[in-house]
Amino acid sequence: MADLKDKTALVTGASRGIGKAVAERLARDGATVAVHYSTNKDAAQETVSAIQKAGGQAFSVQAEFGTPGDVDDLFAGLTDGLERYAGQARLDILVNNAGIMGGVPPEKITPELFDRLVAVNAKAPLFIVQRALEIMPDGGRIINISSGLTRVANPDEIAYAMTKGAVEMISLHYARHLGPRKITINSVAPGLTDNGSPVFDVPEAVEQMAQLSAFGRVGRPEDVADVVAFLASPDGRWVTGAFLDATGGTLLG
Ligand code: NDP
Repeated sequence: MADLKDKTALVTGASRGIGKAVAERLARDGATVAVHYSTNKDAAQETVSAIQKAGGQAFSVQAEFGTPGDVDDLFAGLTDGLERYAGQARLDILVNNAGIMGGVPPEKITPELFDRLVAVNAKAPLFIVQRALEIMPDGGRIINISSGLTRVANPDEIAYAMTKGAVEMISLHYARHLGPRKITINSVAPGLTDNGSPVFDVPEAVEQMAQLSAFGRVGRPEDVADVVAFLASPDGRWVTGAFLDATGGTLLG
């Protein structure tokens, strides 16, 4: 378990699913965690409570990406919380996790849907990185959550996969820029991961999804959180600009 004592972290989309597991893991490793959410305040509070119950430190911060002033809202809440809980507005670890899927066949993609996917999944992460760097010390960590769908085809998720390709470009190109500051930035790509959505309650669907992984099961949020935790830890210092396959072997074909 990494020692993130005295470190601070922001995990976007930490009210549920993978983000929640990442927030809990980083807090367990000692970081003070900002648990970001969009609309689900109760769920975010549950994440904060779970962290506190386990002896960790966390606070919630709200911002709806894809709306005017989204990044300003996020950083207003973040800096306020950091000052209150960590004594200063300093961010050591950023995990760009929040994301939405498309789920429509190619014939049904509309310009509006495309714009929304880009705004939430690609534009927000880019400008969150830009702002985070103003309060991130040398040696910081940035992890962007991509998807296995940048490597395997799913026609119902063309626009979504395009945004995740963009996320990977943030990591690649910023990595060169941030090297002198010893800040690492990487992409982690989950495969099908049980985020508590109703489809994961349907045994036949789960069985079918499980077959895609080399390990014969769907991913658990903790499977991805552990990979993120490695990159966030001191052990991850020599990895930057990388694409980490956290799909449980789904990309092996
Ligand atoms: P969930 O759908 O379980 O949770 C999404 C999170 O993002 C929630 O915290 C939600 O907040 C937040 N969010 C949603 N819309 C917005 C918005 N407009 N602005 C700000 N925050 C928003 O996500 P998953 O755990 O399934 O996925 C997490 C990441 O992993 C995503 O980037 C996803 O693309 C990626 N991924 C997931 C896979 C999977 O199988 N689960 C597979 C591959 C990649 P709130 O609760 O307030 O709505």
